[in-house]
Amino acid sequence: MTKTSSHTPIHVIGGGLAGSEAAWQIAERGIPVILHEMRGVRGTDAHKTDGLAELVCSNSFRSDDATSNAVGVLHAEMRLAGSLIMRSADANQVPAGGALAVDRDGFSDAVTAAIEGHPLITVTREEVTGLPPEDWDQAIIATGPLTAPSLAEAIQARTGADSLAFFDAIAPIVHTASIDMDICWYQSRYDKVGPGGTGKDYINCPMDEAQYNAFIDALIAGDTTGFKEWEGTPYFDGCLPIEVMAERGRETLRHGPMKPMGLTNAHNPTVKPYAVVQLRQDNALGTLYNMVGFQTKLKYGAQAEIFRLIPGLENAEFARLGGLHRNTYINSPTLLDRSLTLKGRPGLRFAGQITGCEGYVESASIGLLAGRFAAAERQGATPILPPETTAFGALLNHITGGHIVSDDEPGKRSFQPMNINFGLFPPLEPGTVTKPDGVKRFRGKDKALAKKHATAARALEDCARWLKG
Ligand SMILES: Cc1cc2nc3c(=O)[nH]c(=O)nc-3n(C[C@H](O)[C@H](O)[C@H](O)COP(=O)(O)OP(=O)(O)OC[C@H]3O[C@@H](n4cnc5c(N)ncnc54)[C@H](O)[C@@H]3O)c2cc1C
Repeated sequence: MTKTSSHTPIHVIGGGLAGSEAAWQIAERGIPVILHEMRGVRGTDAHKTDGLAELVCSNSFRSDDATSNAVGVLHAEMRLAGSLIMRSADANQVPAGGALAVDRDGFSDAVTAAIEGHPLITVTREEVTGLPPEDWDQAIIATGPLTAPSLAEAIQARTGADSLAFFDAIAPIVHTASIDMDICWYQSRYDKVGPGGTGKDYINCPMDEAQYNAFIDALIAGDTTGFKEWEGTPYFDGCLPIEVMAERGRETLRHGPMKPMGLTNAHNPTVKPYAVVQLRQDNALGTLYNMVGFQTKLKYGAQAEIFRLIPGLENAEFARLGGLHRNTYINSPTLLDRSLTLKGRPGLRFAGQITGCEGYVESASIGLLAGRFAAAERQGATPILPPETTAFGALLNHITGGHIVSDDEPGKRSFQPMNINFGLFPPLEPGTVTKPDGVKRFRGKDKALAKKHATAARALEDCARWLKG
């Protein structure tokens, strides 16, 4: 066994949002880092510069509201944890209302200068073409959605063909509490129990013939986003976008994901629905349900409008909308342990979008955690995980354990990338949110907002305690 000391460097592969943050967190704990970034030697299809932490598309880190927006809470937790990405974003802010948007060049320059100027970080411009060699006893792979093919192949060879996806096919995810259960009902098709089921595992939304026809018309007319040339067209059997299925024939969906067979409307048992939209539990907490078979290239605005035509989803709140993108990500819930280490390969961690989170801030936050966990281990300590009540912990839990793996859709496609959202946080203790004095009616939007405030406050308090610990 190789002897290591805190003078032995930790290797970070990929100098994007996650890798830069991971390198910073490690170096700030007095441990040397070698950061391997291929740009400068080899580019990607989306990056345009050689700068570290380049933002490949939008210049927004989304809402900065830490009282009622989950990504705002994540910003606040990252600031508490000494994030380089947040420090550089704050220093390069441009006006954007309630959002944190940045001057992209200034931001990337600030991250690059801080990393290159850190006495304990060495940046090497090279493509890492295989899994880290065993003598890199601690390494973090943070190579992102556009991981170079040779490394992707090496990861796949190690983890199995179904463990690495090259596209995501995301069906919209709905907050359970926003589904109208006076219209919908719980039932599995033919009441099948299956392993681990109850016979009531799906939420069903019924449609009559007129509603179905109006829905198909809306799907066909809906605005879609195209694929970029380099993305290719990743349609594969069993995973066509819902609007493409609708275009193939008016009855296609009724014989596919919207078939009404084996289902009886609990509110109206004598009338057979003409079509049924099914939603399946998405997280262990039961706070989120995904729309089965509804992967789509419809634009976000069109999705919200069209999917709210579905009976029972008129007031649906979406934790995330659907999409199909070029993306490289591993099946983290089966491959990684809770501290982001590849099972069976101690010391090798994954971080960033390749773990199945989505977005600049989320990727950086998982880099922050991976960096801290690796540093703790190098110093001989066991990594202490953030509480699940924090935004850090909620996202980590989605990646490493909170996701439900379905029996009827096994393999890589049942785990899909996710942004941070309040549906990933554990519910509040009963009685946490009570009717304020002097308020007559306390429900709907006011109550939902009060719950967000309480969840955000709990997260920040627990995060501060975790960081002190
Ligand atoms: C086209 C596109 C548009 C996007 N738009 C948005 C958006 O608007 N908003 C948003 O929040 N998110 C967006 N994303 C997602 C965004 O890219 C990620 O959230 C974020 O950049 C992920 O951070 P990361 O550190 O995991 O990966 P990246 O930031 O991509 O960093 C990975 C780094 O690893 C390097 N690398 C790859 N392979 C190797 C190798 N073998 N050896 C050495 N280095 C390697 C790459 O050059 C890169 O610098 C978009 C993604 C794509 C592909």
